[in-house]
Amino acid sequence: MFQTSFSYDALPMRVRFGAGSVASLPTEVERLEARRALVLCSPEQKRTGEAIANALGDLSAGVLAEARMHVPVEVARHARDRAAELGADACVAVGGGSAIGLGKAIALEHDLPVIAVPTTYAGSEMTAVWGLTEDGRKRTGKDPRVLPAGVLYDPELTLGLPVGMSVTSGFNAVAHAVEALYAPDRSPIISLMAEEGVRAMAGALPAVAADGGDLDARTQALYASWLCGACLGATTMSLHHKLCHALGGTLDLPHSETHTIVLPYALAYNQPAAPDAAEALSRALAAPDPAHRLWDLAGSLGAPRSLRDLGVAEGDLGPLARQVVDAPYANPAPVTLDGVTRLLRAAWNGEPPR
Ligand code: NAD
Repeated sequence: MFQTSFSYDALPMRVRFGAGSVASLPTEVERLEARRALVLCSPEQKRTGEAIANALGDLSAGVLAEARMHVPVEVARHARDRAAELGADACVAVGGGSAIGLGKAIALEHDLPVIAVPTTYAGSEMTAVWGLTEDGRKRTGKDPRVLPAGVLYDPELTLGLPVGMSVTSGFNAVAHAVEALYAPDRSPIISLMAEEGVRAMAGALPAVAADGGDLDARTQALYASWLCGACLGATTMSLHHKLCHALGGTLDLPHSETHTIVLPYALAYNQPAAPDAAEALSRALAAPDPAHRLWDLAGSLGAPRSLRDLGVAEGDLGPLARQVVDAPYANPAPVTLDGVTRLLRAAWNGEPPR
């Protein structure tokens, strides 16, 4: 049904997309009137970071290859100190959510503009959400200062993302679009992007899984991740993200794998209460039961499908369900202890979602 009342804030950012577009990075840095950009990446992507710094030439302030999952505060502090010592006036964050998260942590205190060069499908580059982890607890917040000023999507940089991680990262992206379709602050433009994002990602992933070097498939997947990330940046997430935050925060589970496993169950839980979202997803996935289709797709692409496989113990499920129910996110279906316990048990077993 057409949504007749809504509000929508467009986020101010510049996007450049295309194979080889990383070559335009110096121009993009100059557009920000920056002269010394610090390149951020994780240790595993140091060579990519160095190649980018070389391409920046005199516009590079150096490379800091220290990004880590969930942005530990000590890593953020050190990065801020290094940025100041090196006289950086901008950051270029190359990598997945961890590298972009480090750029956001610097921007939060030093107000440096960030250019994000995403190499996974996690979508952090499209949001004003930051996260910092201290003493095992992750704090998150929203601040317009951390929204990247520019985003450069170059599918050639994703060719090396291992196939397993590509599949789960793609599901991570789909999860953003799924929850945007039933978000309390959804809007028609975001619903269009969400449906197209799911269609494009579900279409691209089998080809990416068959051949990680397929540039056309990589291009489609990165396009999908842009759309899905924009959905994340524009809406409030619901039960699925709450479950993943609880699982990730409490048990330190891998981010994209957790999203992949939980998504079909969270969607099965919500789709009867969100008929418009279910209809859009049925169209996008060309399937009458979108939750079941996502579960099938994950299985056919070799992704993990049970929380048990990630090392979650059966005894963890009760406390997790309690944690989710005690501080729920807005959700189309009522979030009950019984319902969430059944959802988690099904996800733990990896049984077909119902
Ligand atoms: P990640 O950034 O931790 O990357 C995982 C690993 O893959 C790293 O070792 C990285 O170096 C490597 N990698 C990335 N791209 C590669 C490539 N093209 N080739 C080879 N290796 C590559 O993982 P992620 O899933 O992108 O991000 C997860 C983190 O991002 C979590 O901390 C999550 O909370 C955060 N996140 C934040 C937001 C937000 O809006 N703030 C949104 C999504 C995710």
